Amino acid sequence: MKLRNLFVTASAVTLSVALAAPVAADVSIDDIVNDAKTTGDVVSYGLGPKGQRYSPLKMINKDNVGSVVPVWTMSLGGEKMRGQETQPLVKDGVMYITGSYSRMWAIDTKTGREIWLYDARLPEGILPCCDVVNRGAAIFGDKVYFGTLDAQLVALNAKTGKVVWKKKIDDFKAGFSYTAAPLIVPSKAHGPLLVTGVSGGEFGIVGRVEARNVETGELIWTRPTIEGHVGMLKGKKSSMTGKKGETWKGDLYKTGGGATWNGGTYDPDTKLIFFGVGNPAPWNSHLRPGDNKWGCARIAIDPETGEIKWGYQTTPHDGWDYDGVNEVVSFDLNGTKAAATADRNGFFYVLNRETGAFINAYPFVENISWAKGIGSDGRPIYNKENYPGDPTKSKDGKKGSSVFAIPSFLGGKNWMPMAYSPDTKMFYVPSNEWGMDLWNEPVTYKKGAAYLGAGFTIKPIFDDHIGALKAIDPATGKIAWSIKNKAPLWGGVLTTAGGLVWYGTPEGYFKAVDASTGKELYSFNTGSGIVGSPITWEQDGEQYVSVVSGWGGAVPLWGGDVAKTVAHLNQGGMLWTFKLPK
Ligand code: CA
Ligand code: CA
Repeated sequence: MKLRNLFVTASAVTLSVALAAPVAADVSIDDIVNDAKTTGDVVSYGLGPKGQRYSPLKMINKDNVGSVVPVWTMSLGGEKMRGQETQPLVKDGVMYITGSYSRMWAIDTKTGREIWLYDARLPEGILPCCDVVNRGAAIFGDKVYFGTLDAQLVALNAKTGKVVWKKKIDDFKAGFSYTAAPLIVPSKAHGPLLVTGVSGGEFGIVGRVEARNVETGELIWTRPTIEGHVGMLKGKKSSMTGKKGETWKGDLYKTGGGATWNGGTYDPDTKLIFFGVGNPAPWNSHLRPGDNKWGCARIAIDPETGEIKWGYQTTPHDGWDYDGVNEVVSFDLNGTKAAATADRNGFFYVLNRETGAFINAYPFVENISWAKGIGSDGRPIYNKENYPGDPTKSKDGKKGSSVFAIPSFLGGKNWMPMAYSPDTKMFYVPSNEWGMDLWNEPVTYKKGAAYLGAGFTIKPIFDDHIGALKAIDPATGKIAWSIKNKAPLWGGVLTTAGGLVWYGTPEGYFKAVDASTGKELYSFNTGSGIVGSPITWEQDGEQYVSVVSGWGGAVPLWGGDVAKTVAHLNQGGMLWTFKLPK
């Protein structure tokens, strides 16, 4: 199967003129660092830089959530109804959302009225691998920021939507693009930084994390994720990532993948930036003997220097496209500064976030085939026969022996963020149970072409469900409850002090369940599949909940047999906002 690229026609930039719009005050670095505690705004991706997606709000709670009603909606319409994976931001009566095809809106939170729209002028030939999505914006000072499918970073005036600066991340013709929400991080040496990664791991680009001056967009530092590549600090070469040739034999590290496509989180306690790193390239693991650091890993970076403080590989020498990009969520584990991350490879990891030391790992999906478990040293106990075979050992040299591997490469969990409740001390993980036929093929790098060296078909493994929202105790790995869903879950999760867990389904339902038991307490059909991440905030003494609906993302494009089972789901593009009736 060939990688399917999405070719998109150029579109004009349109800006609507603001009427009497609410005016947002400048967002400070303290507003961002303390975002999780302040219920009147949502000024970071993850409802706080730690990414817990927990709100202390409890006006909407287990007892009254059944009465919640939608109060306004807004269409993301036009001819651009594709996957809507955004998480809204809210500040002083203005909501900022991003949408498919690199668009951003400012919206009046009282009425849903559009204040302005920024529509990026996308060139011909962009190469997004996995639908024309965007996962959210960042906000700081008087600017809002987001990345575009042609690999640009754009800073807009939050009041007018006018471009303040625009910077090229890299060459979109080589496969670079951008879909993650940028991260704002404090630093002593450089002031607030705008921190981003890169997308394009399926095209043999080399991953990196970058920090920029928030006012000018000027690069402060760059940290490559693949061993043997040299970083940059203030315009000069800094250190090499790892040691050339240590875990990569030969020259393949030069096109070694490791895309940082899902963005990062920041922990104010340890002052570390956490990023996940995608698969080493190409997928055909026989071409790249060794652990292939830091492919399929989590890395902690010092914002002052751009140096890697620690790294932890979830799938050393990946053979299944188990990108290690999933979010690192900081939390307190009985007094230990811990972090948790639910990997594409099906294991839920708990690490010491100060040192990266392995604490424990637990399977969070069923029938994992590629590994028996994770050893006490933190390395997988591989089932070596579950690596797809070497094509050079086949009769015609063109197709290696096929394996059936679980999870599929779309993962036990993909990009969609989980939530953590300090009340229940549980993580709420949007997971998927599926497998894949996978085989290797010969491949050579060619700029802008898919660089996989593999073929695949994703298949369901159970008759009644693929998706499963799971409540996981990070201390024991015990799954307290699980809610099956027929279609794969592809949207983010929110939890609140009201004892609720909110999530959406591809079937279109926006649901609230009891955080302790998983009992469904609220369900509302939004008319299209939900693959966005919900938020909640407080305004004029009332609690609001918002989520963007609009089916799409990687599943319909890459899902093989699973894509057929969701082909009937309708596209859309609608922002929904809910509250209790007065
Ligand atoms: Ca806040
Ligand atoms: Ca990948």
